[in-house]
Amino acid sequence: MNLIKKLPDAIANKIAAGEVVQRPASAVKELLENAIDAGADEITLIVKDAGKTLIQVIDNGCGMSEADALLCFERFATSKISSPDDLENLHTLGFRGEALASIAAVAQVELKTKRRDEALASLVRIDGGAFQETSKTNAPDGTSIAVRNLFYNVPARRKFLKSDQTEFKHIYETIVAQALARPEIKWKFISDGEEVFNLATHSLAERLERFFGKDFSKGLIEFNEMNDFANLQGYLGKPAMMKRPKNEQFLFLNRRVVQSRQLHHAIMQGYGELLGEREQPFYLVYLEMEPRRFDVNIHPTKMEVRFEDERNLYNLLLSVVKRAVSGMDFSPSVKIEEKPIRFESDVARANGLHSPATSDFPGVQKRLRYDERESEFRSSNALYAEFKRETFGEPISKTPSPQNARSTESEPPSLLPVDEPPPRDEPQRRELELIFQSSEPESERALGAYPVQLHNRYILTQIKSGLMIIDQHVAHERILYERALAAMDAGISNSQQLLFPHRIEMKLWDMKILEDLRPDLERLGFSFRQFGANSVVVEGVPCDVKPGREERILYELIEQYLDYQQRLRLEKRDNIAKSFACRNAIMAGDKLSQREMSILIDQLFATSMPYVCPHGRPIVIKLSLAEFDKMFGRT
Ligand code: ADP
Ligand code: MG
Repeated sequence: MNLIKKLPDAIANKIAAGEVVQRPASAVKELLENAIDAGADEITLIVKDAGKTLIQVIDNGCGMSEADALLCFERFATSKISSPDDLENLHTLGFRGEALASIAAVAQVELKTKRRDEALASLVRIDGGAFQETSKTNAPDGTSIAVRNLFYNVPARRKFLKSDQTEFKHIYETIVAQALARPEIKWKFISDGEEVFNLATHSLAERLERFFGKDFSKGLIEFNEMNDFANLQGYLGKPAMMKRPKNEQFLFLNRRVVQSRQLHHAIMQGYGELLGEREQPFYLVYLEMEPRRFDVNIHPTKMEVRFEDERNLYNLLLSVVKRAVSGMDFSPSVKIEEKPIRFESDVARANGLHSPATSDFPGVQKRLRYDERESEFRSSNALYAEFKRETFGEPISKTPSPQNARSTESEPPSLLPVDEPPPRDEPQRRELELIFQSSEPESERALGAYPVQLHNRYILTQIKSGLMIIDQHVAHERILYERALAAMDAGISNSQQLLFPHRIEMKLWDMKILEDLRPDLERLGFSFRQFGANSVVVEGVPCDVKPGREERILYELIEQYLDYQQRLRLEKRDNIAKSFACRNAIMAGDKLSQREMSILIDQLFATSMPYVCPHGRPIVIKLSLAEFDKMFGRT
């Protein structure tokens, strides 16, 4: 008895759909690719409920005849290849002829399409792979395809769709990548009735700004390399753009959005030691090669590629990136060959960009184990007291000192107590400003009883046992971090109203996050209101925002928040506090007066953990006299 039978098309297509259409964004990708292949120069994407209810793509491309409009839903039906040789010489994005069949098998689809040389459009309706209606209708030239209720007949798939936010993000990333691959096409994206973007011009710089923020392209360096083997051109992030989320690396192969771990690796290698651990730069790389030199027919989604001569390509890309990066405009005193420790903040500054990465270089990444921290903590008050005695003999300011922050040395670490005056307190506010504004004249005392700043980066101070070195940026980060947490936990109003409310542009996606974080941000001291779909008006900021940064801080906080969320998966409040601290703290490079240094040290030792920054890096390093003696051979 024979048991094997051929599956009916409807089932076969449904199975194929499992690979081709994994989520709304994969359907979006296929439909956008079809519109591009049809030669459209205007493409509109409309989604509802992150594509779960509706995905519609409208193009002004070549359209289809009535017969084609029926045939396009058949599996392995394509106009793009007809012989095996064509597969070696692909000039279209599609070629497998299974996208529409797959999508139609798992959704309710309505296709309206009209060729320029025909008077009427064809309309086809198909539900779960079964034709419902075909007729003639009026429609503009081109194609409109609406996909409703994706996976309505595959409950298991539908159930596993992620939140609207997540699915929307995937769709957004999909269309952004296509819009960067094809600057010559005018793209429009509408989500739940709101226009996310409408790219009316062909300027790539404008697109970059639209997607990644103002003046973004200024942080990029251009490269160009043409030879017989391949053409390479694109843009690489300068140092301030080196720490980007992992969805901001774009590789296009003959303008197809592709992923290649090897080529990504080549780019990262090209940056060499400019990149810190876990850092990755923004890049936009357009690679052009003869189609016979690579194969995209590896996976149904056509994202992966295999190259005929991968080694050569790897080396080519590596050397191109190396060369481009070595031509970057660093601050005058620094060369690329040098250890990266110094240029980071300088370059960020020179570019007018703030980078939080200052202390993230491997060279300063010494993490303390928890038990070490514990014992360090127990001695911290003693050390502080020693510093105070050595330096002033008495307290110098009203800032919380360990004496009033906790009564005994053996008390467990705690956050700033609630009764600790928050920074809105007048005297404290002034002192805090002192930290930000180097207002006092610099006295060039030798390292004696007073703290001394080393290269505007470290604070050196004498303690009884020897020398204490403090990293000013992470020290301030620790202080701000604990204050932010305390403010959010205690809900103490800690806000300063801005004289001139400031409007900031946001990505739609960031707006959603912002709303999500609103309660905590308000407790922290921000006040803001939504203004249209893509911007907010900031009316107030926390008191201890660095003067001059009031306008940027909320935007930067969100940017940092998203970065941490992606890389470190921090809990919400912790993330907000860390993001705020990181973006608002004084930087390596900020000059401090003696009084500011003293205040900073005071505030640092009033925190629950003066030795470790919120990311686990050391804040304080001590060198004992005994160690000095040993180094000088005195023992
Ligand atoms: P493929 O793109 O691999 O050929 P698809 O299933 O995506 O397979 O599409 C099948 C065929 O339908 C295409 O080859 C093309 O001829 C036609 N088609 C699909 N979308 C469009 C469109 N937007 N405009 C014109 N023709 C289209
Ligand atoms: Mg296709």
